[in-house]
Amino acid sequence: MCGIVGIHNHPEASNIAYLCLYAQQHRGQESTGIVSSDKGIFHQHKAMGLVADSFDSTRIKSLAGRNAIGHVRYSTAGSSSIENSQPFVVSARGEQLALAHNGNLTNALELRKRLEEDGAIFQSTMDSEVIMHLIARERGKTLVDRIAGALRKVEGAYSLVFLSDGVMIAARDPRGFRPLVIGQIGDAYVAASETCALDLIDATIMREVRPGEIVLFEQGGMRSYDALVDGKNKKAHCIFEYIYFARPDSHIFDRDVYTIRKGFGRQLAKEHPVDADLVIPVPDSGVPAAIGYAQEAGIPFEMGLIRNHYVGRTFIEPTSEIRHFGVRIKLNPVKELLAGKRIVVIDDSIVRGTTSMKIVKMLRRAGAKEVHMRISSPPTCWPCFYGIDTPTRRELIAAKQSVKEIREFLTADSLGYLSRDGLYCFEKKGEREWFCDACFTGEYPVDLVDSPDIMEQAMEARRGC
Ligand code: AMP
Repeated sequence: MCGIVGIHNHPEASNIAYLCLYAQQHRGQESTGIVSSDKGIFHQHKAMGLVADSFDSTRIKSLAGRNAIGHVRYSTAGSSSIENSQPFVVSARGEQLALAHNGNLTNALELRKRLEEDGAIFQSTMDSEVIMHLIARERGKTLVDRIAGALRKVEGAYSLVFLSDGVMIAARDPRGFRPLVIGQIGDAYVAASETCALDLIDATIMREVRPGEIVLFEQGGMRSYDALVDGKNKKAHCIFEYIYFARPDSHIFDRDVYTIRKGFGRQLAKEHPVDADLVIPVPDSGVPAAIGYAQEAGIPFEMGLIRNHYVGRTFIEPTSEIRHFGVRIKLNPVKELLAGKRIVVIDDSIVRGTTSMKIVKMLRRAGAKEVHMRISSPPTCWPCFYGIDTPTRRELIAAKQSVKEIREFLTADSLGYLSRDGLYCFEKKGEREWFCDACFTGEYPVDLVDSPDIMEQAMEARRGC
């Protein structure tokens, strides 16, 4: 997963980009980069690691200009290396262009094969580079025409910001898988993945970039083109942004993430009640849902697990050895709270099951009498091909095991997942149509040109249901 930002017409564009990336660090910790444009000259800095470790004031000052774009990355397509860090910069027909991309294309391999047969040379393994090659081949008169022409050929999930000489462009795929919001700060415009980035810089939040919209920021103004809307595509916002990915203080897809997560917890308490003494979250991802659960169930809420905030998200470590170790170094139980108590522990999701299993054991070792695991989403059975980093279906515990078997694996006294209907407890009539929940259902809203075997498996599984 990734986070992106674009600034137009700000005297300290790179500084603003830096702050917005800092606020969006949760969207990717592997690499980061900023590219600025100053009177036709591009300046760039990219590095592996965290935003705060990658830039200092001298570095930011060297990124001169009133326009800039930036990126934080966790690799979903393409390996973890500096060549695959973004923004991605190219020169085509005398024009420099930079791109920062959040999302995954579902026909990138197919397009890449055709482009390579046609003589294209690729520098990275990122599917974002395919977009750049397609733009370079377009013959449209304006940059917006060429971007629109290229984006009509790609399929899947993309929220994008482009930088050209004095120009910033934001674009979102026709289904709006990933968030992208625009705001204003003085005479400047800002586009970012999440509103928490705009809050930090005190920008006024204007609106989301509409699915299928391209927004051009030029000469201090903004112009909108519904260039990718074909009338057929339905919205498919990623429900996992609500469950786990977005920051809880962000407002995305027209709603507050915190309120939604708390609602999931309330619904979970209705669906899976249990006699218990304490509700505790797995911090940070389980906190709002645990508050909702505790309030609905009338059970006291406590922070029974304390997180070391200086350790990265454990799942995001690249090898499973580090991940296993990470669970122990990341969380520590508060023994005096837990001893002799019946505990409900809330997390947002179970992926491979290793984190939850270690947490259950940790709570028992700390003296908990009973451990009841509650998950504020349905079982994750299918990989995501639209930008969330999920392992293969083989590694997803819920793809192979029943809830009963997972409970046994976790060694929990009970286990309850939020139902699929319960997940849409927030919806006004019919809104679930606007979300992608393929990770729970296998119903992929955009065909997977590059992974037909997975499509077949999903169809097979549905036939079996
Ligand atoms: P696991 O041990 O594989 O079951 O990991 C479950 C934990 O990973 C939960 O605490 C989730 O909050 C977290 N998680 C779920 N999905 C992701 C993701 N795509 N990236 C990072 N962490 C995740």
